[in-house]
Amino acid sequence: MKELVAISGKGGCGKTTVLASLAALAESVVLADGDVDAPDLHLLLRPEIQQRTPFVAGFRAALDASRCTGCGRCAELCRFEGIRMADSRPVISELHCEGCGLCVDQCPVQALSLADATCGEWYCSATAYGPMVHARLQPGRPNSGKLVSLVRKEARELAEREGKELILVDGPPGIGCPVIATVGGADLALVVTEPSPSGQHDLRRALELLRHFRVPAWFSVNRADLYPEGAAGIRAEAESLGARWAGDIRYDSAVTASQYEGRPVVLCPDSPAGNDIRAIWHTLQKEL
Ligand code: SF4
Ligand code: SF4
Repeated sequence: MKELVAISGKGGCGKTTVLASLAALAESVVLADGDVDAPDLHLLLRPEIQQRTPFVAGFRAALDASRCTGCGRCAELCRFEGIRMADSRPVISELHCEGCGLCVDQCPVQALSLADATCGEWYCSATAYGPMVHARLQPGRPNSGKLVSLVRKEARELAEREGKELILVDGPPGIGCPVIATVGGADLALVVTEPSPSGQHDLRRALELLRHFRVPAWFSVNRADLYPEGAAGIRAEAESLGARWAGDIRYDSAVTASQYEGRPVVLCPDSPAGNDIRAIWHTLQKEL
């Protein structure tokens, strides 16, 4: 079983467009969305959720109101606005409480404790292209890297159970913790970028990250025909950093149209971008 991860460094380069099309082209595949903060692969693959499971990670303050004297010390001490007083009673904010435990420690009558915090949900779903594992972290909650790792683990177990040969993972943008959790141990990473200074800068950072984690790196310049000189400069730099060119993708209004329709662009007949992604898939397939 192989695992291919698509990342982008910079958001908005078309990574999910490419990954959704690879999902439509691949056979015997499990799909995973590693972007748990702002997932969007579901918009193109339209999964039907079959199982949803709470994601429990970290802690939140919990109040035993029968013990509370209303002294207000907890609200005075909390630096995160996780607890405030209302009518002489503490009110805990699920959004702001960081679960640090200071109020628990300092409450003079032990009216506070730390309870497990539900930070989001993860899902097993069915799509027209194969089963999919995805998740949603609640806004502002920590542990996104942990949730990404959970999504990848569940996708791998699902692939093993169902005898699938490939896992395709749509990674988050950037190079932070969730991206590291997405690429570590993958067999191949495809970095999708665009011909712009920020696209080139963030591609460089993504390739450095992949080199650090020893993940074989391929790259593609999306909308390359809009700025051919810029695309050529990106290709030269990426290859000098050890990445291999998988092919470029032309600008194509069918991409936006397919997004409105909620389907991978590769399914649009005679789409230049779809044909380019098909060629990229043939190249990567040989490598896999
Ligand atoms: S510190 Fe304890 S007793 Fe005082 S208001 Fe907070 S929970 Fe109630
Ligand atoms: S656990 Fe920490 S963050 Fe949460 S309410 Fe208590 S002091 Fe504030």
